[in-house]
Amino acid sequence: MDDSTARRILGVGPHASLRQARKAYMQRAKMVHPDRYAHAEPPAQREAQRAMAELNEAWRTIRLGPPARPRVDHEPAREPDRAEPPRPRGCEICGHIPANRIDIRSLTGLLLIHRSERYAGVLCRGCGTALWRDVQAQTLTLGWWGVLAVFVNLAVLVNNGSYLRTLSGMEWPTDRVAGTEAPLSEPMPATRKVTARVLPWVATVTAAFVVALLVMLLARNAP
Ligand SMILES: [Zn+2]
Repeated sequence: MDDSTARRILGVGPHASLRQARKAYMQRAKMVHPDRYAHAEPPAQREAQRAMAELNEAWRTIRLGPPARPRVDHEPAREPDRAEPPRPRGCEICGHIPANRIDIRSLTGLLLIHRSERYAGVLCRGCGTALWRDVQAQTLTLGWWGVLAVFVNLAVLVNNGSYLRTLSGMEWPTDRVAGTEAPLSEPMPATRKVTARVLPWVATVTAAFVVALLVMLLARNAP
């Protein structure tokens, strides 16, 4: 794989730093990782594996490739490519339109600290909804378990909720932008609804119970 193909697959420009390329790789890998497709149909699983292998190769190409040639000050200014009309921006995962910017987080509470993971990108309704359900279920399950995390998690859930409204207002993806380099050829298969999963319920009800208990104990011991 050559450098320009690798950069197209990762969605980074010719002058992007290694750090930017790594960030793009991590973002995409997180979203198309085959673990997300454990419950999907076999063709979707194979497609995710293929996409992941391609992303890995693109990142390896950029990471191990020749060092970027030094920037020349008098590089001739390139004529803008007029032949190519601007393409609509398709979903970063599957290349379909319509797509909108989604920026959601998951939280893991670890008693005194917490760890947050961000999933941001331009996504279609199919990929966005599949990802949203996984991320929201994860934060509802793991986000409550810390002193500060309880409060941070509420903010995370509210932020994620606003993007669910964005997703619900979008049309379902129809067409793929021609020539797009998105890792998957079809939108991500649907994941289970958050309300149909057991762990988020158990964790959230338990967390609410613990908080209520603490508040009662504090109230009783107050002078
Ligand atoms: Zn998509």
